[in-house]
Amino acid sequence: MRRLQTVIFDFDDTLVYTYKLFLEATYEFMDAMKKMGLYDDELFKVLDDFDIKNIEKNGGFLPENFPDAMRQTYRYYCNKYKHRPDVIVEESLQKIGWGVFEKEHELLPDAESLLEELKRSHALFLLTQGHKETQLKKIATSGLAVYFEQIKVVQQKNIQTYQGLIKDFELIPKDTWMIGNSIKSDINPANACGINCILLNATASWDFDKDILKADCFVAKNLAECKYIITKGG
Ligand SMILES: [Mg+2]
Repeated sequence: MRRLQTVIFDFDDTLVYTYKLFLEATYEFMDAMKKMGLYDDELFKVLDDFDIKNIEKNGGFLPENFPDAMRQTYRYYCNKYKHRPDVIVEESLQKIGWGVFEKEHELLPDAESLLEELKRSHALFLLTQGHKETQLKKIATSGLAVYFEQIKVVQQKNIQTYQGLIKDFELIPKDTWMIGNSIKSDINPANACGINCILLNATASWDFDKDILKADCFVAKNLAECKYIITKGG
């Protein structure tokens, strides 16, 4: 028999810190660029814009998007400041981007205790977007996989994604919660399908995740607040 309520969790910046690893690599990249005189106030935005454009160009969240954005930014600045591009330098800059995927993802406070407690009375699902192999490796390393009945890695989270999930997992939207940090991928589309939503603002978030909040949702600043909202029944 299906338990009364279901909770769908996002992974990155909901259960584990992800954006801060990208930020650390971004600052390392900016330092390296500064040492070469390839630096101005636009640098952070130029890198971010290339990274976001790569999602569209490569058809999703591929691991190469970020290191490629570093190469593209280097080329852009070489051209802007009439600096001759160097292949070796380019490779070393890309390595900073690839390094993000080697780092261990730290759990958010209360991540494990929240899952442990909710699992007793709720069916838990994990819905994460990104490159399948990369995401599954991260989830396995986190040790959190054991708490979920199903784990789904998708390229994008839109209204169709949530409609598919409701159908595949036989979910009742009004008895289902979505917890995530992305207005664009977690909250607006899930809420459009009638799912109860909690927007988690516990970490710094990537600009890509931002959007105009159309959903009628709860907002929590940490996972303990999410637990309180769900156990109170909203
Ligand atoms: Mg996220």
